[in-house]
Amino acid sequence: MGNLYKSEIVKFGKLIYERNLNAAYGGNISVRDGDKIYITPSGFNKAFLTEDDILVTDISGNILEPPINPVKPSSESKMHYAIYKSRKDVKAIIHAHPSYCVSLAISHKNLENLLPETTIVLGEVGFVPYITPGGSKLGNTVARALTKGDACIMGNHGATVVGNNLFEAFNKLELLESTAKSFVFSLLMGEVNTIPQKDVSLFIDMHKKLSL
Ligand code: 13P
Ligand code: ZN
Repeated sequence: MGNLYKSEIVKFGKLIYERNLNAAYGGNISVRDGDKIYITPSGFNKAFLTEDDILVTDISGNILEPPINPVKPSSESKMHYAIYKSRKDVKAIIHAHPSYCVSLAISHKNLENLLPETTIVLGEVGFVPYITPGGSKLGNTVARALTKGDACIMGNHGATVVGNNLFEAFNKLELLESTAKSFVFSLLMGEVNTIPQKDVSLFIDMHKKLSL
């Protein structure tokens, strides 16, 4: 019998690939269900996974349910665990290499307050310098950046977003990448206007009044 979390990970792996939010061997996806972390295997194109490739571990990396196929957990598992440890509200994480985010990551430019929707949904977008992929240092640094908002650009690497569930994390990744794309075009057009901080506070207050 299929597992809901595994099938969601497989579905969103395909979706981020089809929406050009990830390519080739990059990226990883996880979901937290209580003490269990469902996570993608290392070194695969994440668009072509099956439920038999998904690992179930605890938050320390111990394998709770061996996958059907012979796979190893994502090389960025430590980052996923560090984020889950510091953000109890987070239930899903997507790390990906979307082209426009990666352009900013290579140019060492972060998103500031450019669009109201982006600031409302993502909060403060973090930026961490280049750190060797796969290690605890990267994981802990990204986890720290994600205490202020739900998205982080990783220097010379990619981006990581978090959510209450995978659908929310996916929407955040899509919004991050579409804002990064508009930002890259604004940079090419030679003028970038950020929203002044006083106006940011105004639309955040307005949003709080209007939302449920
Ligand atoms: P994995 O395939 O090991 O998850 O790694 C992909 C990646 O993006 C590393 O940063
Ligand atoms: Zn990566």
